[in-house]
Amino acid sequence: MTDLNTAIREKLQAAHRILILSHIRPDGDAIGSMLALGLALQDAGKQVQMVLSDGLPAAFKHLPGAEQIRTQAEGEFDLVITVDCSDAARTGGSLPAGRRPDLVIDHHITTEAFGSLNLIDPSAAATASLLTRVLPAWGLTITPSIAANLMTGLVTDTLGFRTSSTTPEVLRQAADLLELGVDMSALYFRSLVRRTFAAARYWGAGLSRLQRSNGIVYTSLTLADRQASGYSGRDDADLITVVSSIDESEVAIIFVEQDSEHVKVSWRGLKPYVDVAQIARQFGGGGHRAAAGAEVRGSLAEVQERVLRLTQRALNHP
Ligand code: AMP
Ligand code: MN
Ligand code: MN
Repeated sequence: MTDLNTAIREKLQAAHRILILSHIRPDGDAIGSMLALGLALQDAGKQVQMVLSDGLPAAFKHLPGAEQIRTQAEGEFDLVITVDCSDAARTGGSLPAGRRPDLVIDHHITTEAFGSLNLIDPSAAATASLLTRVLPAWGLTITPSIAANLMTGLVTDTLGFRTSSTTPEVLRQAADLLELGVDMSALYFRSLVRRTFAAARYWGAGLSRLQRSNGIVYTSLTLADRQASGYSGRDDADLITVVSSIDESEVAIIFVEQDSEHVKVSWRGLKPYVDVAQIARQFGGGGHRAAAGAEVRGSLAEVQERVLRLTQRALNHP
């Protein structure tokens, strides 16, 4: 066992009250990783609070332990852990004031070591994959409930085992989780395939304005679209995955209006030579080579103009 795993195991053993946090606009890996680690620590006798500042999206309410997720931390903690989260600001203010995480578990290439202990592996397909690998080394048991959460993280971050990050190890992990009795088909359907009617109408608004220029395929989702469709999330309802499937493009971008001064931008690199994490970084965001995001200040029109200009420059288009 590595020194880092030994240090983490000792820290976990010594702690009683543990807080687990993840990122705003949580995805399947954030939620699955949080629940898997939280349930495993509870099984080991720890008191665990799991906090997502944006709360739990309806699409993940079926996961074991999901009812325990809250939007604010309460009380004192011996240990604070972040999962799938690349910096303190991405916890959405749920990190107790003045505190740095004791343990950071993540796989984003842009993550800085902002914890006291940092388990960061950008080669991992998902934080859930990292956890599947290390939980036994930390003396924690993967029960069927924990396996369902880990599987959700694997399935969502690999878009159903089809990203280039899907290694033999990931497929072996999925096979091991299946052997524990996980209903992969149901988890896959619920987290990646099924949509609400409102989400599909929201997609429609975005798709009706789809544009392409200089290798960039892009669209925006406005507050008015959200209201008209009845979609309740502040995200793109995963429209970026649909737009990413469009042929003969190098980068896909979606702009989601948050309010009159903030826009959430998502990039997807559609060619192996494109590194969108570096582009997102120029806007204070981050992510992976092929998938990155940032929260950019400005009106929708301003942000769109700036982001398209700098993305074009990064692609070496005049
Ligand atoms: P998204 O476009 O939000 O689906 O995110 C794509 C990838 O970039 C995910 O791995 C996110 O965790 C990461 N990401 C998104 N927004 C940010 C941000 N503001 N800072 C750092 N990483 C981000
Ligand atoms: Mn995530
Ligand atoms: Mn992830």
